[in-house]
Amino acid sequence: MNLISDRTSLIATENAFKVGPYIVALENAGNKVIKCNLGEPDFPLPKHVREEVKAQLDKDNVHYCDPQGILPLRKAVAKYIGDARGIEIAAEQVVVFPGGKPPIGLCQQTYCNPGDEIIYPSPGFPIYESFINYVGAVPVPLHLREDLGFSFTGADLERLITDKTKLIFMNFPSNPTGGVASREQLEEIAEVIKRRCDPNIRIYSDEIYENILFDGAENYSIASVEGMQDKTIIATGASKSYSWTGGRIGWVVFPSVEEALLFKNLNINYFSCIPPYNQEGARLAIESPLSKVSIARMNAAFEERRDFVVDALNNMPGVQCQLPKGAFYVFPNIAGVVKNLKIDEAYASLPADLKKTTSPSTLFQMFLLWDYHVAMMDRKSFGQVGAENMHFLRLSIATGLEDLKIGMERMAKAVIDEAGFAKFVEKQEHFS
Ligand code: PLP
Repeated sequence: MNLISDRTSLIATENAFKVGPYIVALENAGNKVIKCNLGEPDFPLPKHVREEVKAQLDKDNVHYCDPQGILPLRKAVAKYIGDARGIEIAAEQVVVFPGGKPPIGLCQQTYCNPGDEIIYPSPGFPIYESFINYVGAVPVPLHLREDLGFSFTGADLERLITDKTKLIFMNFPSNPTGGVASREQLEEIAEVIKRRCDPNIRIYSDEIYENILFDGAENYSIASVEGMQDKTIIATGASKSYSWTGGRIGWVVFPSVEEALLFKNLNINYFSCIPPYNQEGARLAIESPLSKVSIARMNAAFEERRDFVVDALNNMPGVQCQLPKGAFYVFPNIAGVVKNLKIDEAYASLPADLKKTTSPSTLFQMFLLWDYHVAMMDRKSFGQVGAENMHFLRLSIATGLEDLKIGMERMAKAVIDEAGFAKFVEKQEHFS
């Protein structure tokens, strides 16, 4: 009898959490590591939110509460999401979760039977792909187009739609690319969905970076397109907008009250409820005009860092980087570096079992980390199906400008260090 279920081996992971112990090992050995791997804003929780959470704790608001989410927060979410997208939303359609992540897997479980197909962006947030095999669905990656600022067209989507398509994940502004789709693109994508998909299709629109936008870009939601609201699940939360990843508050607007009640029951089964003092903090964060100020301050810092980093990357031989319009990531193409440092040849010469655990961009990621002490993420961490020959890195700019300057200086040396890379490979260590 096996100890562990077969299903358990099918779930993947989020590698951003895997790099942490490597960084600790390097730091314990006395090295300064530049951390461009983190997916969380490097700002404190805004003071007005912090004060509200403290006040709630002083009121002893620490007991079980509504498993769907406290009504004042659901009302605030309904108004805020509805106003920003020009649609009507009832508080009964809203469900609060412990962060933006749990509804991803819960939606796959709820909407998909084994064999149903799930379309998701690649590169994309790794949890979309991670859960698909676990729930017995079929992964259908939608490869984002670098030439379109990492978005896709209606025709790109249409090619992947079949009568088994059940869920389509979308994520703008995007992790890991920072891509933002325009209103026209989303209208074209919506037209394809309305024309080609079964009425019971669901679009999971992950808009967790809705407030982190540059150059006057707008977060236009696909739910705002006529005829799309009744098919679209809008998911966002407090983690990124309010720099509050440890608060574990996310919220989702479902197309119908009936669907919301199914997720309320899942919350009862899994979590009972979400901490009420943090939910009150999130309500205040949504309602307070002070939040606009803290978000604007954060965005100004991200924009300055983005301009610096993209410029520095584009000056490195073998690197090409698009200017992202949102989120706090840049996603350089390093195909030239893979060629210049003969990383592709090193990868090709690895034994088959090692090859499965790494990739050319992983080898460069590890070389940068262990020899140059700069932590980034590889392409493979953002979806693996059909991404074998794609060579990119994700850099988070949620790190101070001074550190980013050091990081870019180190990377500029690494991208031309052919001899250093050859030595790294010889050591046969740290390949993934
Ligand atoms: N969705 C996307 C696209 C993300 O990038 C993240 C976090 O990095 C999440 C969801 C999950 O956010 P949370 O920390 O609120 O669970």
